Amino acid sequence: MKNSLKIDLIDQLLPQTQCTKCGFDGCRPYAEAIANGTADINRCPPGGSDGIRKLANLLQVPEVPLDASRGKEGPLMVAFIHEEHCIGCTLCIQACPVDAIVGANKLMHTVLPYQCTGCDLCVDPCPVDCIEMVQANREWTDNDARQARQNYEQRNQRLQGRHNEPLGLAARNLANKQELSDAAYSDEQTRKQTVLEALAKARSRRSGK
Ligand code: SF4
Ligand code: SF4
Ligand code: SF4
Repeated sequence: MKNSLKIDLIDQLLPQTQCTKCGFDGCRPYAEAIANGTADINRCPPGGSDGIRKLANLLQVPEVPLDASRGKEGPLMVAFIHEEHCIGCTLCIQACPVDAIVGANKLMHTVLPYQCTGCDLCVDPCPVDCIEMVQANREWTDNDARQARQNYEQRNQRLQGRHNEPLGLAARNLANKQELSDAAYSDEQTRKQTVLEALAKARSRRSGK
């Protein structure tokens, strides 16, 4: 099998939360490492034993238990921002690999629950500890994985495209959400409207699938 095809097939079996718990910078780099024989198939807690079984079948290798040093298998979680404590620092937006948080500088931030992969990468950077991981009370579907991969790729392309901007990381990320950063300088009603529109857009994207 050609290596690029092998990577694609492996990547399609990974859950695309982009959580980095496998020790790689996202699902695709882990897929590359498996294909190249430099990583075992048991490093993905979100995929769990089911994911290991699928990878074992694809690669015709024995199933092995999840590597406990990478984390535990568990229910799908989703980030929840206690907005009353949010200081609008944008650090969570910068940390989120799939653009699941909307907000702008000095404005409260909100998680788009159906875009959130539960990766928890936004929790530690929050300086006021106002992000909590709560149970999503739903399953992570193949559709979710497809959408998460697309959001992740779009975000990476956007960041790479703007990499040369003479701006700090925070400013660069705000610039990446132009309509939201513009809203930071608008009146309160416009700001609220912008966040509501971003939420509605995410909902309609989901219901249209
Ligand atoms: S879901 Fe997380 S642990 Fe699994 S492959 Fe993707 S980045 Fe790695
Ligand atoms: S909102 Fe937080 S938990 Fe959800 S995808 Fe973004 S970084 Fe991960
Ligand atoms: S990191 Fe915390 S305080 Fe900063 S914008 Fe995000 S939720 Fe608000």
